[in-house]
Amino acid sequence: MITKPKGCKDIYGHEAKIWKYIDSVVDSVMEKYNYTYIRTPIFESTELFHRGVGDNTDIVTKETYDFIDRGKRAMTLRPEGTAGVVRSYIENKMYGDLNPVKVYYSGTMYRYERPQLGRNREFTQFGMEVLGSDDPMADAEVISLAVNIYKMLGLKGIKVKINSLGDTESRNRYRDELVKYFAPHINDFCCDCKERLAKNPLRILDCKVDRENDILKNAPTTIEYLNEESKKRFDEVKEYLDLLQIEYEVDPTIVRGLDYYNHTVFEIEADIKELGNNNILGGGGRYNGLCEMLDGPKTPGIGFACGMDRLANALELENIDLPLNEALDIFLLYVNEDEKKYAAYITQELRLAGFTVDTEYTSRSLKSQFKQADRLKAKFIAVLNSEDLDNNEIKIKNTKTKEEEIISLDALIYYLDEKLGMETEEDFEHICQCEGEDCNCTDCHCHDEK
Ligand code: AMP
Repeated sequence: MITKPKGCKDIYGHEAKIWKYIDSVVDSVMEKYNYTYIRTPIFESTELFHRGVGDNTDIVTKETYDFIDRGKRAMTLRPEGTAGVVRSYIENKMYGDLNPVKVYYSGTMYRYERPQLGRNREFTQFGMEVLGSDDPMADAEVISLAVNIYKMLGLKGIKVKINSLGDTESRNRYRDELVKYFAPHINDFCCDCKERLAKNPLRILDCKVDRENDILKNAPTTIEYLNEESKKRFDEVKEYLDLLQIEYEVDPTIVRGLDYYNHTVFEIEADIKELGNNNILGGGGRYNGLCEMLDGPKTPGIGFACGMDRLANALELENIDLPLNEALDIFLLYVNEDEKKYAAYITQELRLAGFTVDTEYTSRSLKSQFKQADRLKAKFIAVLNSEDLDNNEIKIKNTKTKEEEIISLDALIYYLDEKLGMETEEDFEHICQCEGEDCNCTDCHCHDEK
């Protein structure tokens, strides 16, 4: 048997419905914030990630899927979304459009990592980027957008952790201080950290191997080295977050793994034990130098990326009841060839009218067809009968109330429309939970009666 590659997943059935639902919430929230969808290639030239993610990052040194194509060009499967979006911004001269450019993406990413719960080799991220604004309000907007997506999905106990790396001057000062601090102890650290000390000491701070080392835990923090301007900027981001009523905590240990970040960096965590160290649902930050690093015009930017795999896990682990609409409107059952033809025709008509409909395709017994309708959670079933059909009639049963009715075939669409619509009205009242006269809401039907 040919099996899927290690660290990859097949997503189907109920899980696929969860994924599609997350997609729909992401689309709708992004739209509300006026972000437009962008699709960039799954593979890009290797150089893009060396320059855009950073030559010394774990991602580029150890985790990329690189290949030489048939034209002998060095290519890499994208390990993250930002570099491709910024490449596209520059190549398509989007900076000529109205700034800021606010875009969002969703797609598979590839990193050669050790697979475990919440960590795969092929995984999906959705994310957004704002290019062309250095305003602290944009930082707060990106964080609030991410939080609102999690809230819309019903996730509880999410934690926003923010930090600032400051501008280039602050970051350099901090870097020098870290080198001085770590140098006498570096022999107690892993081989990668020894290399990081010279190339990018900030990266020692998010080393997965040395994370419990006390020297690392007591290292100086970025906040202590922010210059006045960077401090003021960070304060403004926090003010905007307060204004938007986004709860957060300042965590000076957050530095993020990629080379391109400055000023605001942040992570959003789920409060789910089972996810262990892989409970970070997403993270992001400001990258004001990235566009220039990729030969584009000087353009500030900020973005966020969220792992879909972890998010879907989190929703399942928190047992969140998502409105997945897994039920069929109607299932058509039949026995003989004549009825089968009617089934094909009626199914088509109902689908074109907008109903979710299914029927029998494998010549099963009527008993098995009832079981199938049950499995598919059909709200209505109709057992087609040649005699009824010849009289232009159809017998329909509500699977919940067990009510049965014979109706005219011509009235089937209206009948279902009315019955299924009535169910929606009941749902409305249920959601509203109004208490009659005191209800101030504008959506519910009690107003019609007042
Ligand atoms: P990063 O691009 O490393 O900042 O990651 C942002 C988010 O993507 C993380 O918080 C995870 O939710 C998700 N993520 C990153 N790497 C993986 C992976 N190997 N498998 C699954 N999700 C991942």
